[in-house]
Amino acid sequence: MVNTFQIYFSPNLALCKSQIEAWLSDYSMKVEWRCIDSIEECPASEIVLVAEGDLSTKDRRLLAARRSLVVVERWSLDASVKWIKMGATNCFDSASTAHIASWLFSECTHFTRSESEKVDNSMLQIVIDTIPVPIFYKDHLHIYRGCNDAFCDFLGYPKERIVGCSVYDIAPKHLADIYYSADCELLAQGGTQQYEAEARYANGTIHEIEFNKAVFLRPDGLPGGQVGVMLDITERNQLMRELEKSSQTDQLTGAANRRSFDQMIHEEWKNSKESGKPLSLISLDLDHFKKINDQYGHSGGDTALKLIVNWLDDHLEEGDSLYRIGGEEFYILMTDTDLKKALVKAESLREGLAQHAFTIQNHEVNMTLSIGVVQLDMDVILDKILELIDRALYEAKNNGRNQVRAAT
Ligand code: GH3
Ligand code: MG
Ligand code: MG
Repeated sequence: MVNTFQIYFSPNLALCKSQIEAWLSDYSMKVEWRCIDSIEECPASEIVLVAEGDLSTKDRRLLAARRSLVVVERWSLDASVKWIKMGATNCFDSASTAHIASWLFSECTHFTRSESEKVDNSMLQIVIDTIPVPIFYKDHLHIYRGCNDAFCDFLGYPKERIVGCSVYDIAPKHLADIYYSADCELLAQGGTQQYEAEARYANGTIHEIEFNKAVFLRPDGLPGGQVGVMLDITERNQLMRELEKSSQTDQLTGAANRRSFDQMIHEEWKNSKESGKPLSLISLDLDHFKKINDQYGHSGGDTALKLIVNWLDDHLEEGDSLYRIGGEEFYILMTDTDLKKALVKAESLREGLAQHAFTIQNHEVNMTLSIGVVQLDMDVILDKILELIDRALYEAKNNGRNQVRAAT
């Protein structure tokens, strides 16, 4: 009876393949050859013959997850040990086609998964299968040697499909690159490791994961590999982002708040110092706002504030940012803007708002703004600048309101 086997090989071995085939056919073995450009094309656990010269750096990471034979120009024990340490199953030179045939014969006829690759039903496996968090362990060549049911569910593969594979066999390349380099770093330094990375679940959804990993040692004290636990922190991170956003936002109007301003002014101050570009600030206070509250009640006043924020938002230009600093007081921070340009902007806001009729409780309501403007002098401390702009605003109020004043 003739047995047919599938063997993958790299382009440079096209010549010796016919000789190997001849040797094997003498022993009733027929080979289906598959030429591949990268080991990636060979499924995990399959047999692959690669010429040393055909191996890219990326391919080296995949050697260990396959029954790989590296074929070198000139064999030496040193070269052979080097490749085996890197994950190759064996190493021969291209002239030794009979040896290669003998190795293939052995691989094809006697190959059974090693004990460690078999799905383990021991007590320990039952215990880790019960843990509802994905757990995995890999050997010193970064090959999965075991995992729990939660890890299988996360990947959507059975254990048999995972054990014996490398990260490149089960994750998209851009994620596998991240995991692989973290694995290499951990194994080199020993101890434990914690990092966050994305992971793609079997159903295609992307989750944010905190990986907690540690190197385990063999009885002889050498690193045996690493064990990892995956905690899904997608919801926690989402909550943190929402909290962060709400701590920076004014609840009533949705505008950025004073806290956000305090942060931004320092950042923009620094940017402006570095770039040498001017930075200006406009302070706006609604005139006689108490009257709005008196006439339309507090909720009418609230509506007015929301409408004004929307109106101001619509009139911002790129590089401008709006903040609600207090009750009916706002700041607009303007990057790449000098005093002259800021004054023009302030005047157009003042005039535009004065001419706009807002609808509050079915009434047309007109409002006006008093405005102070300052260009930030990089040699003057911030507190002093805020004092100057307050004074400019105060002058605008004192002079009859509905006007713009520059800080001097
Ligand atoms: P002016 O600035 O022109 O001197 O007069 P004003 O009436 O605007 O005076 P002031 O700035 O002292 O008062 C602002 C008022 O805004 C006082 C307060 O009742 C009202 N206010 C502050 N925050 C809110 C708010 O969130 N909602 C409502 N409805 N009113 C508010
Ligand atoms: Mg006011
Ligand atoms: Mg006020």
